[in-house]
Amino acid sequence: MAGQTLRPFLTRAATLYPDRAVVARTGDGIDRDTYAGYADRVRRLASALRAVGIDRGDRVATLCWNHDNHFTAYFAVPDLGAQLHTINPLLPADDVQRIVAEAGDRLLFVDPSLVDTLRDAYAPDAFASVERVVVVGADAPDLPLPTTTLTDFVADHGGDYDPPTLDGDDPAGLCYSSGTTGDPKGVAYTQRMLWSHTMAIMTPMGLDIADADVVMPVVPMFHINAWGLPYAATAAGAKQVYPGPSPDPADLVGLIEREGVTLTAGVPTVWLGVLEYLQDHDADLSTLSRIVVGGAAPPERLIRAFDDRGIEVVHGWGMTETAPVGAVSHLKPGLRDADYETQLAKRKKQGLILPGLEFEVVDDDGDTVPHDGEAMGELRVRGPWVAEGYVDGDDGAFDGSWLRTGDVVTVDPDGYVELVDRAADVIKSGGEWISSQAVENAIMSHEAVSEAAVVGVPHERWGERPVVYVVADADRDEDDLIAAAADRVRREFPDWWVPDQFRFVESVPKTATGKFAKTALRERRDEPLSG
Ligand code: ADP
Repeated sequence: MAGQTLRPFLTRAATLYPDRAVVARTGDGIDRDTYAGYADRVRRLASALRAVGIDRGDRVATLCWNHDNHFTAYFAVPDLGAQLHTINPLLPADDVQRIVAEAGDRLLFVDPSLVDTLRDAYAPDAFASVERVVVVGADAPDLPLPTTTLTDFVADHGGDYDPPTLDGDDPAGLCYSSGTTGDPKGVAYTQRMLWSHTMAIMTPMGLDIADADVVMPVVPMFHINAWGLPYAATAAGAKQVYPGPSPDPADLVGLIEREGVTLTAGVPTVWLGVLEYLQDHDADLSTLSRIVVGGAAPPERLIRAFDDRGIEVVHGWGMTETAPVGAVSHLKPGLRDADYETQLAKRKKQGLILPGLEFEVVDDDGDTVPHDGEAMGELRVRGPWVAEGYVDGDDGAFDGSWLRTGDVVTVDPDGYVELVDRAADVIKSGGEWISSQAVENAIMSHEAVSEAAVVGVPHERWGERPVVYVVADADRDEDDLIAAAADRVRREFPDWWVPDQFRFVESVPKTATGKFAKTALRERRDEPLSG
């Protein structure tokens, strides 16, 4: 029996959909290829990698944006049973050094626009394993490592590549978490994990991807495999559109219009930017039927605004350890005739755990909590595409085959999971829990507030009390804003959830994936509150 590997997805696309397009914005223009041409590029690159000794279990890194050559590496590296290690170029230099050293990457692909990032992150010891840098551009710059261009690297390699036999246990990928609650942690994916994740997200209960779709992943390819979309779109035979380096809302809207994008995906802030752009610009988004949003909860106004345009915001939940998609908020049959507000309340939740995964929610005493939409506990999941350990051997987040997600959730009687907070961020005040995320959302619903990050500060009487860091319009009156924001919290939650202090700041520190860096905020906290 042949194994559960990534290769058949590409072979099928090249055989059954040879003319279906793979399109990438380059910055200067658009690169167009087909699955037939693309499969050929994958063979050439895999052949070139093998010629320099890349083999099963080796790690090959990328420091690249979303484009066709990055996509080529997505299949070529795993085709050798090697791991594709996608590095987030927005990580601080010392994190890049640590993960390159830990991964022991042998070869590194870099975009011309990220050569300076590589130079800044380079340290001889940390990069000791890197034998070669391949620049995805016309010129090989001067770097302290042997460097070549992609064109030269694949130049002598044709279609005579004889792929190695692989099975589901062979390595395929390596991603590091964003490091929101600590240092980024490495998660290795086998071929079977990525195969089963691909199959699950193609289904209607996943992201519902078919050959007629035109898929544009805006979520970076360095962020958990662009949520698995490059693999799933290939498996389905869908047309693919890659938005290239630093696309702005105008670039994204232009690509949707010109390429007929039907499905796109990214974190909420991207789509808030697109909405703002659409206020002042006419655009024909008639082909676009859904936007997958995840990584953070989408604000309600985002879902409403796209509904008004006939575009569905599909809310998904996941993490690096779940490769990443673990739940998607689809409406169950009984809810399809419900009124809009009832539906919206469900769609805002993180959703229904995907077919193929098991889950449970466990409280502080280790007991499973009832599915009543109220009782909180930590979400645990397990299944074919869920990790069972980190590459550094730390298994603190795992309990046998269960992954402890670190997310505090409720489950309602319909089975919808709602993320209340991260276990690391939840505030314990007087023995009760305050959800920092819920308070943030209530405060950010105020028009004058663009960012609000809530953290717990030690308190002699209550144990901890919430404090909020706020970024607000320059011309606001601080006292009025505090009163209005506190009112918004009180409308939804008990009085004691209102933060004891509002600290006005220029900006809230963020992680490399744009999440509030609360660890940094907690370090910045001043004297403990008293009284
Ligand atoms: P990190 O844990 O370092 O941020 P990840 O990028 O793997 O690294 O992020 C996974 C986490 O992101 C989840 O555990 C959860 O807290 C958060 N997350 C993911 N999807 C959502 C969502 N739809 N709504 C709210 N939070 C989410």
